[in-house]
Amino acid sequence: MAERPYIVGNWKMHGTRAMLAEARAIDRAAERLIKVEVALAPPFTLIHATRKEATLIGVGAQDCHPADGGAHTGDVSAAMLKDAGAGFVILGHSERRADHGEKDADVRAKADSAIAAGLNVIACVGETEEQRDAGKAESVVAKQLKGSLPEGEGVAAKVTVAYEPVWAIGTGRTPTVEDVGAMHCSIRKVLNEFYGEEAGATIRILYGGSVKPDNAAELLAADEVGGALVGGASLTADSFLGIVVAA
Ligand code: PGA
Repeated sequence: MAERPYIVGNWKMHGTRAMLAEARAIDRAAERLIKVEVALAPPFTLIHATRKEATLIGVGAQDCHPADGGAHTGDVSAAMLKDAGAGFVILGHSERRADHGEKDADVRAKADSAIAAGLNVIACVGETEEQRDAGKAESVVAKQLKGSLPEGEGVAAKVTVAYEPVWAIGTGRTPTVEDVGAMHCSIRKVLNEFYGEEAGATIRILYGGSVKPDNAAELLAADEVGGALVGGASLTADSFLGIVVAA
């Protein structure tokens, strides 16, 4: 890993104010762990409070609506997230693609809106087990990237990619280090084609899916892995910091 590894906790639909103590503990430890860039994406309801409690780590959201505002009951715009204290937003997570039918074009529209609002974007891609077994993992991910990533001058600097094989999320199963490295190299190629070599080379590619303190060092050492997107193991400061330390 050339740069500082980027370790992002995705709290998903977990967390009430009681969990702010975990965010505080993570933030305090981050002061010592300056070789790692640490961030948390709590649910919408905790973004503002997390930003106030945790002053060193990044704080972000898990989704946004593509429109600036309007009659969209229950939705939240990128500008609202920015106003609440978010610095980034996770987009296109496989749970949103599955639960809400999000397509690549939706992810791109959200990414455009997030960048216009001044947020960075973590764009998620990943194949299902069936697609991997059929030998289509790399082509599926390439297609998702080409359809989901925001386009335009200077945009690459705002983008992080997270490779999360759907079958590894929350299952305790992970790809081999070789498979992770091969996929990340394939993603790098797509990014270099999409944004041009110079800009494409700077984009961090995170691995996500059952990252734990005891497998983090190995997964993070794979080719072209610039950090991790962590779900279950980010819910307590103990386990999340175990991953940060391993990085
Ligand atoms: P997991 O989730 O670490 O619980 O597997 C990762 C993610 O979905 O971002």
